[in-house]
Amino acid sequence: MRYIADLHIHSCYSRATSKASRLPGLAAWAAIKGIRVLAAGDFTHPGWLQHLSDNLEPAEPGFFKLRSWNNDEVASCLPPGINPSDLCLADIRFVLSSEISSIYKKDGKVRKIHNILYAPDFDSVRRINKKLAGIGNLESDGRPILGLDAHDLLAITLEEAPDGFFVPAHIWTPWFSLFGSKSGFDAIEECFGDLTGEIFALETGLSSDPDMNRCISALDRFTLISNSDCHSPAKLGREANILATELSFDALQQALRNPVTHEGKKVFTGTIEFYPEEGKYHCDGHRKCRVCMEPDETMRNKGKCPICGRPVTVGVLHRVMDLADRSAPRYKKDAPAVFSLIPLPEVLSELLGVGPASKTVMRSYAHAINTFSSEFNLLLDVPVEDIAAEGSALLAEAVSRMRQGRVIRRPGYDGEFGVIQVFDEDELSRLAGQLELFGTQVRIRKRKKTPIIPHTRKTPKKKAAATLKKNKLNPRQQAAVNSSSNHILVQAGPGTGKTHTLVARLCRRMNRNPDPATVFTFTNKAAAEIRERVRQVPGIPHQSVFISTLHGFCLHFLRKQDPALQVVGPEMRMLFLRKLFPDQSKSALVTMSGQLSNLFANPGDLHTVSPETVQWAKKYSEMIDGRHYIDLEAIISCALAILKSDSPHAEAMRRQTACLYIDEFQDLNALQYQLVLELARSSSIFAIGDPDQAIYGFRGADPRWFFKFIEDLHPEVHT
Ligand SMILES: [Zn+2]
Ligand SMILES: [Zn+2]
Repeated sequence: MRYIADLHIHSCYSRATSKASRLPGLAAWAAIKGIRVLAAGDFTHPGWLQHLSDNLEPAEPGFFKLRSWNNDEVASCLPPGINPSDLCLADIRFVLSSEISSIYKKDGKVRKIHNILYAPDFDSVRRINKKLAGIGNLESDGRPILGLDAHDLLAITLEEAPDGFFVPAHIWTPWFSLFGSKSGFDAIEECFGDLTGEIFALETGLSSDPDMNRCISALDRFTLISNSDCHSPAKLGREANILATELSFDALQQALRNPVTHEGKKVFTGTIEFYPEEGKYHCDGHRKCRVCMEPDETMRNKGKCPICGRPVTVGVLHRVMDLADRSAPRYKKDAPAVFSLIPLPEVLSELLGVGPASKTVMRSYAHAINTFSSEFNLLLDVPVEDIAAEGSALLAEAVSRMRQGRVIRRPGYDGEFGVIQVFDEDELSRLAGQLELFGTQVRIRKRKKTPIIPHTRKTPKKKAAATLKKNKLNPRQQAAVNSSSNHILVQAGPGTGKTHTLVARLCRRMNRNPDPATVFTFTNKAAAEIRERVRQVPGIPHQSVFISTLHGFCLHFLRKQDPALQVVGPEMRMLFLRKLFPDQSKSALVTMSGQLSNLFANPGDLHTVSPETVQWAKKYSEMIDGRHYIDLEAIISCALAILKSDSPHAEAMRRQTACLYIDEFQDLNALQYQLVLELARSSSIFAIGDPDQAIYGFRGADPRWFFKFIEDLHPEVHT
């Protein structure tokens, strides 16, 4: 049978762990995640061992299950909305395991190495514990620190638990591992000597993935396993293993020894990986100095931090490159597959714009688990179209991209976790609009950027002076603010306070006339900035000012017609096209998708595209229209079509834009310009921009619309 196993966790007896890390909480979260087999952890600790023997009973050979549990205790570990009785705790299997931190001197160097021990029964565990208790204090920590050579720890394991096995833990972390840059070894033989042959699997840890490890030929004979090493049950399965074998300790061990059986059956089929960049020791750097460097940069800096001059903490990537003898990974035939995933709470956090542990995310998370039965089922197995149908198109788009590894990565360094995102900020705002995800409003959050080398930032003093200066309008700006013309175009270069002028005019208008007004910005970030500036002006009726990107504005009104409307991004478009045209090759579908995207963005070009494309577009539109979907590229043209009708929705759009402000006018594309022109029939327009700053070709932006505006509407021009 196929099952997912997380083989390295810690109990509440380990340092810095959650109180919920007791068997019922662990079993419940294993069920939520979709993990079938879980390491029980910390068997060297007498208190935890007592908890294990009190609460576990034998299941399959060498595997254990919960004897009984209290639903109230389980519920207290779960996010609200998940019912303990919906989880099959009785199905979760436990393996006896413990991690030992060995700190000892070898070959004149202090070594700090973590290893995981696995035992098939409580008798073996008690024998191991008896030996280790004579060497150090097992009660001080669930992961005890022993002054015991890793080689000797392996010898004890083999002797006291001959059917057990031994795996070096998170082999690349700088401070505590076999190959760690700070206190590890350069070769596994240096550590385990004559017993090296007893080791058959290595834990890659969160900071490295199989691609990195497979650049080292010396590791070819080892199976690479992945585990969460979690200190709270909610983090279970951050990394995990996928097996296809019977449930038993021996079958598990055999699968780790030989991922493919002699008969050619794959029994260890894959690992679930963190993106290694997310690990907190991926790149080199200094957390305190906010310096993050790629290995070649570190080399150029001779290993020194450019801020404080001290040696940087060398990350895993650098360390792997040092020991690598290949420039690209090489895999054996039938090697376990690798699935790089972002934990679901982090995906939801990105989509919802709030922290991964927030109530909002947990509510959506509970909804997702109740809908798709487990996190791994959703992330790995549920067809994307089902996620769209039962969850949301945005989540489907995110999962589809993640499954293909199309994500944005910002690496971790020196103890600072990296950040992996599915969407860039702009894209997310275009896809989401004011979307509801499982009944929760999607809010686009301004992302916290990792400031790298902070002295380049403005000092607070300078900033305050700049704000002070900004509050005063110069005579030219004042003239633009006071002008009584219906259409005004302000043409000004960067740093001349264009946005300040726009906000000043908007506030002046709102103070005199509280009727609705709308501001179009080019990015969501700019919208948030203007919103914030307007908020700081007292007496403005904020609720009648709509500040948004053009996309956001159009989506807002399209959703007034169909509140369930969701946006189909490029991934979902491909999926629908595959369904509609199953006989077409992938490259043909990619071309088709591009042509449709062009057609939707420029519906006026209908006569210039092939009749075939028009046919495709028709079929595709029929398919998605019936499902409350709209293609990302069709949003503006649909809104324009509504505006040109004389429906009540057109009326509402015109009412909201009776007074219209447009920021960065030079970045408009043809279709957006048409929309503005259509609105101008009933709106006064105040537009600002700089044709010299136009981002040519970006989403079809073209500064010629700036000049066309002058030609078409004869606005009063301020420079
Ligand atoms: Zn460890
Ligand atoms: Zn530094």
